[in-house]
Amino acid sequence: MNPIILHIPHSSKLIPDEFLNYFYLSKNELNEEINLMTDHFTDELFGVSLDNVTSLLFPVSRLLVDPERFEIDKDETMSEVGMGCIYEKTSHGNKLKDGSKIRDRLINKFYRPHHKKFYDLVKSKLDKFENVIIIDCHSFPLKRLPYEKSEIKTRPEICLGTDNFHTPEKISNIFFEEFKSLGFSVDFNTPFSGSIVPRTYYEINKRVISIMIEVRRDLYMDEKTFKKNETFDKTKNALSKVIQTISNTNV
Ligand SMILES: [Zn+2]
Repeated sequence: MNPIILHIPHSSKLIPDEFLNYFYLSKNELNEEINLMTDHFTDELFGVSLDNVTSLLFPVSRLLVDPERFEIDKDETMSEVGMGCIYEKTSHGNKLKDGSKIRDRLINKFYRPHHKKFYDLVKSKLDKFENVIIIDCHSFPLKRLPYEKSEIKTRPEICLGTDNFHTPEKISNIFFEEFKSLGFSVDFNTPFSGSIVPRTYYEINKRVISIMIEVRRDLYMDEKTFKKNETFDKTKNALSKVIQTISNTNV
């Protein structure tokens, strides 16, 4: 069985009290923004109990610090819209927080330790196995938010993010066909693209395989009440089936 790492960066809604002062939003506005930007329930949705699968969750909200973005703003295209690893802007382009005073603290307390854990985990698998498969686990709203770069109108139910170096075609095709056969509409890199790899291995080590799965939120939750909906279990079962298939595939 292939070792699989589920990287789950955006499921937490937590903003510790000590950082609340740096936000420009009222309590209600902040709650609303958290609701819009959190990949709700993705920890539970992707969670499978298989011996070969390990999950790595980021412990705080992406509104505080986003581990999915490059640490240095000039490497990160999203910093152009105020959403580098330390967001300064909301999903609607308004002022979110003053990151200047807390940037170093956030990076040292959350960003770097997470990336260290990620690297260590990937390395520990490479030491024992031929390959490791990272699945970058996300969800996205049915309706486009203003910050999104892609303006494509049709949003598939499942978006697969690939990387030219780290996603072998065989793997992306299996994911595509599996989701199709389970009845989902699927597309590659639409509306989001790419998939995460620890920096040390990025474009260096092909044994590190990575693919992103973005699930459209209406497949498992009500986007008005932010609660699970009646198709949550069906979607969770489908994800777990796909993860099982990929566990047993020769890569
Ligand atoms: Zn996400």
